[in-house]
Amino acid sequence: MKVLICGAGIAGLTLAWHLERAGWEVELVEKAAAFRDGGYMIDFYGPGYQVAERMGLRPRLQRDRYPVDELSYVDRDGRQTSHLKLTSGLEDVVSLLRGDLARAIADDVRSPVTYGATVEAADQHAGGVSVRLTDGTTREVDLLVGADGTRSRVRELAFGEVTPRYLGHRVSAYVMTDAELSHRVGTRYQMLTEPGLMAGAYALRDDRLALLFLRREPDPVLSDDPAGELRRHFGGRGWILPEALARCPRPPELYHDLVTQVELERWHRGRIALLGDACQAVSLFAGHGASMAMAAAWILADELTTPGELTTSGDLTAPGHLTAPGELTDALARYQYRMTPVITEVQRFGRRFIQWMAPSSRWRIHARDLLFRLAALPGGNRLFVNSLSPGGHNLITSRSNVLEKS
Ligand SMILES: Cc1cc2nc3c(=O)[nH]c(=O)nc-3n(C[C@H](O)[C@H](O)[C@H](O)COP(=O)(O)OP(=O)(O)OC[C@H]3O[C@@H](n4cnc5c(N)ncnc54)[C@H](O)[C@@H]3O)c2cc1C
Repeated sequence: MKVLICGAGIAGLTLAWHLERAGWEVELVEKAAAFRDGGYMIDFYGPGYQVAERMGLRPRLQRDRYPVDELSYVDRDGRQTSHLKLTSGLEDVVSLLRGDLARAIADDVRSPVTYGATVEAADQHAGGVSVRLTDGTTREVDLLVGADGTRSRVRELAFGEVTPRYLGHRVSAYVMTDAELSHRVGTRYQMLTEPGLMAGAYALRDDRLALLFLRREPDPVLSDDPAGELRRHFGGRGWILPEALARCPRPPELYHDLVTQVELERWHRGRIALLGDACQAVSLFAGHGASMAMAAAWILADELTTPGELTTSGDLTAPGHLTAPGELTDALARYQYRMTPVITEVQRFGRRFIQWMAPSSRWRIHARDLLFRLAALPGGNRLFVNSLSPGGHNLITSRSNVLEKS
């Protein structure tokens, strides 16, 4: 079986990892000119972490993780206004750069990746899909997977224009090198919040600093000068912001986007399937997108391969079966059936969480500070983390359970 995966991000690489081990012929096509490093800090846990463990990635993730000892809110003078110590019981919550997670998966993927191109056209016929890429080359495949993020090109080809649900905020992030600022922030996640604005910073290895900015904005149109926009809204807010923003890079080093969720009735059409943010984006407010992307990739691979083929890391097994179009359609339907309930739950959680992560008023900022103080009480730490794990606890289970239900 041949598959072309559009998008070599968290979801696309995880699917490639599993399908190549099940004997599929896999190829990826990625719009970026080269592998996308860095990005932004993510907290990685839950079902995606379970998948990573099955892939044998635990030692690598434990090596690449950053210790986050504390969440700390500061005012414009850099004085702490509230904080939460993160001391124990968080071994399976890994904080790392999105690029480091993607790199950990990519290092173990053997399939070829064509960089600097995307899918231009896809024509489905009885025997498969004919795909034309923007570099002028063509592919004949059994399955085309769109793992190309919230603005998915493959989704557009299969379903036409889909407008993701805008959550009323813009997000920007970048990584910079500055020994003094990095030292000042240290191994605690520091944040400054003012009504409708949030800026966060965390020190990385090698004198680097990861910065994140959130801004409430009803207008869902992106600026063509995102660095200038950041300086205008955050540059006068004190703390480390004037120094950090003075060296704000331009895209692609500066990540800048609308915060959105993708809700689709169908995640597949014929021999085209969508995966990850392309069909199930939960947004950074849910704090679960990478985890859900990996879980979905595992489930899709589980449904596409013969039972028992897909288990853990290791060598190639016998080639995956599945030739009849009907079987493929059933497999894609089961994949969506398994994922949809948890995605709906996580998306709801994300929308509720907006007011805690980016409070819109002083009153809400005070309420958030109070919650932090309560979480500092004995046992509060664990309760707090559980409250950040909205769902999917039993997602990574064997297929047979699902077949009985469907
Ligand atoms: C600021 C921020 C913080 C976040 N925090 C967390 C967190 O704490 N925990 C968590 O689990 N998740 C978090 N997320 C969400 C998480 O990063 C995403 O949900 C996850 O990366 C989705 O994986 P994906 O493979 O679907 O998309 P991506 O990882 O974005 O990969 C998509 C890939 O497709 C490529 N691509 C795009 N368009 C095309 C095209 N037309 N053709 C070919 N390739 C294309 C892109 O270059 C990219 O490589 C956060 C997101 C943001 C923005």
